[in-house]
Amino acid sequence: MDLETGLITAAVMNAPHHAMELRSYERPELEPGAVLLRTLGSEVCGTDTHLAKGQLAGVPYPIIPGHVTVGVVDEVGASAEPVRDVDGNALTPGQVVTFLDVYGTCGRCWYCTVGHATTRCPSRRVYGVTLSADEGLLGGWAEYVYLRPGVHIVPLRDGLDWRSFLAAGCGMPTALHAVSLAEIAFGDTVVVQGAGPVGLSAAVLAQLRGAGQVIVVGGPEVRLVAARRFGVDITIDIATMTPEERLRQIKDLTGGRGADVTVEATGVPAAVPEGMRLTRDAGRYVVVGQYTNAGEATFNPHLDLNPKHLDVRGCWGSDVGHVYRSVQVMARYGAQFPWQELISREYSLAQAQDALDDVAAQKVVKALIVP
Ligand SMILES: [Zn+2]
Ligand SMILES: [Zn+2]
Repeated sequence: MDLETGLITAAVMNAPHHAMELRSYERPELEPGAVLLRTLGSEVCGTDTHLAKGQLAGVPYPIIPGHVTVGVVDEVGASAEPVRDVDGNALTPGQVVTFLDVYGTCGRCWYCTVGHATTRCPSRRVYGVTLSADEGLLGGWAEYVYLRPGVHIVPLRDGLDWRSFLAAGCGMPTALHAVSLAEIAFGDTVVVQGAGPVGLSAAVLAQLRGAGQVIVVGGPEVRLVAARRFGVDITIDIATMTPEERLRQIKDLTGGRGADVTVEATGVPAAVPEGMRLTRDAGRYVVVGQYTNAGEATFNPHLDLNPKHLDVRGCWGSDVGHVYRSVQVMARYGAQFPWQELISREYSLAQAQDALDDVAAQKVVKALIVP
């Protein structure tokens, strides 16, 4: 915040394929139940590069990106009832918290009530994605973030460093959702396709769920090095092996059967039929990486699915439970894994474009915006 003018700075994406710009905001008046966060840091992830290229539908540009953010409670809007975090405790200034980027899930529609699939609720809005910069400080790449009444706020547990939490970023709750669906049994061989933040988090969570062997198929080498540092047993570089060679190696590592469980976290359509083939008969395959529409892939329903008794599950987005559980897992087990090594660089608001470019070019595993 500019001490003379009292203005707050935010990094704004005006439209796809436009350079990021800085914009100044007046300090907002808080409505009852709202919370103003002073940003400590916000992640830069693949979603932001998709936003910069216009690959997500329904985005009301201009926006302030940044959908996973940690901040200090700066002010709580006066209201009759205290504003509470997910645990039910009243929020007080000075607390370090994160929040679920998804806001406004109605709790009344068919998806919320009957389908129990809140990620499909038509009322949902997402900080840093589907809220306009013209409506206020509704994204994390800003000195302050305005949390509207009803935003789900999750306190960071003592001992959990905010940089570690952001190093895992939205990849952790996304992977936690996927690995929960994967129902890994003790001793299972788990193949993770993709070595980005979701894939790395899935590989860590697979270990915590008792996997006997974790294999990551991905690239580039800098990410595979990180995967091995995170306890992955075997990495397979997609740049040096054909799909047939990868299949043969995984069969060799699994007594000829294939993986018990495979988690797809690549975003590449062709990875999906490959993942079906890497998984053993009656195994389980969770697809979490196809977040945007990247096109078609074909598979053989007889050879790849039906007699194989393959259990295929799709997984999209995460809810407050996944974020809450991520905080607990990171607080308890975070020290076992070198999360902060993933942060290749921290960027100021003025460097937001560089951060986007570096993530898009896969020069970094994880970039943080630190206002
Ligand atoms: Zn709903
Ligand atoms: Zn993200």
